Amino acid sequence: MKPWEKNIRRVVPYTPGEQPDKPKMIKLNTNENPYPPAPGVAAALRGMDMDRLRLYPDPAAAVLVKAIAADRGLSPEQVFVGVGSDDVLAMCFLTFFNGGEPILFPDITYSFYDVWADVFRIPYETQPLDGQFDIVPQDYYKKNGGVIFPNPNAPTGVECPQEDIEDILRHNRDVIVIVDEAYVEFGAESALPLLEKYDNLIVVQTFSKSRSLAGMRIGYAMASPELIRCLNDVKYSFNSYTMDQTALAAGVASLADRPYYEETIGKIIGVREQTKKRLRVLGFSFRDSKANFVFASHERCPARELFQALREQDIYVRYFDKPRIDNYLRITIGTAEEMDALLSFLERYLNKED
Ligand code: PMP
Repeated sequence: MKPWEKNIRRVVPYTPGEQPDKPKMIKLNTNENPYPPAPGVAAALRGMDMDRLRLYPDPAAAVLVKAIAADRGLSPEQVFVGVGSDDVLAMCFLTFFNGGEPILFPDITYSFYDVWADVFRIPYETQPLDGQFDIVPQDYYKKNGGVIFPNPNAPTGVECPQEDIEDILRHNRDVIVIVDEAYVEFGAESALPLLEKYDNLIVVQTFSKSRSLAGMRIGYAMASPELIRCLNDVKYSFNSYTMDQTALAAGVASLADRPYYEETIGKIIGVREQTKKRLRVLGFSFRDSKANFVFASHERCPARELFQALREQDIYVRYFDKPRIDNYLRITIGTAEEMDALLSFLERYLNKED
């Protein structure tokens, strides 16, 4: 071992879903939106003044912050933006989870949380979801250094009822509680109205899923002006220019076309409900998903085998080789045609086995 090796910050990194590039693939593995962003986004990017790229972007990302605040009925002082919600969540971990007590999050959840905790040396304790994959609010009553969970949860798609979120907030007035709402617009209730009552709440959302802009990397946090100031102080101590000129232009343009997104989100929810019916007929079981994916397990055929069989057809879904969830597939909701291709293959495959 070389002497400097002991000084290296070693971490086991987060593993993102693969991004294959096959001509005819059906990609249902990373919860991307199957529809393009609103037409105004392409127009804004085409109309960009190239001379602007010579200059640094506005470090405060003010045009985007203002547009998000107006869209959500908040003041700009209540909004923080970052390079996808991953960046925003990482900044939240660094800023707010800074005490000696362990932070709490579910045992089955977004697998970036334990990675950030490890890289920032934040102690954490996972709390088991119950047998139905529900969060048990009482598990979050104990002394802790902060709480974070997604709603709907990932990868399960299960919504945490608003009463349970408020119960967790009521029992955690002395720490920061983060609700990660990456998928909330596909049918769950947002905790945003609770901001008025709880000054320790942070709600995080993203343009990646419901706004079809995963490739543009735009996420945001909404909280009290005091918490947003703290987040900005940490951000400016790390990297001032997080949002580039193209992301600012695309983000603002996307907020200008609510009807387009209402239509595409509506289509995804419709296809999701149809997909659930056909999956059930095929012998899959799953909790009711309020996200743009379904987390399903088959009564006979192991998930790992199905994952491989689908992959051989260039149909990509997500499989997690982890305790309690290693017999589930997380299937992103694509277009009706994509889901039909997936389900038709599964029908053939599963019936051949009989
Ligand atoms: N939170 C959850 C629960 C997610 O599943 C994801 C997507 N991987 C994110 C946050 C991050 O999304 P993005 O950085 O694209 O906003």
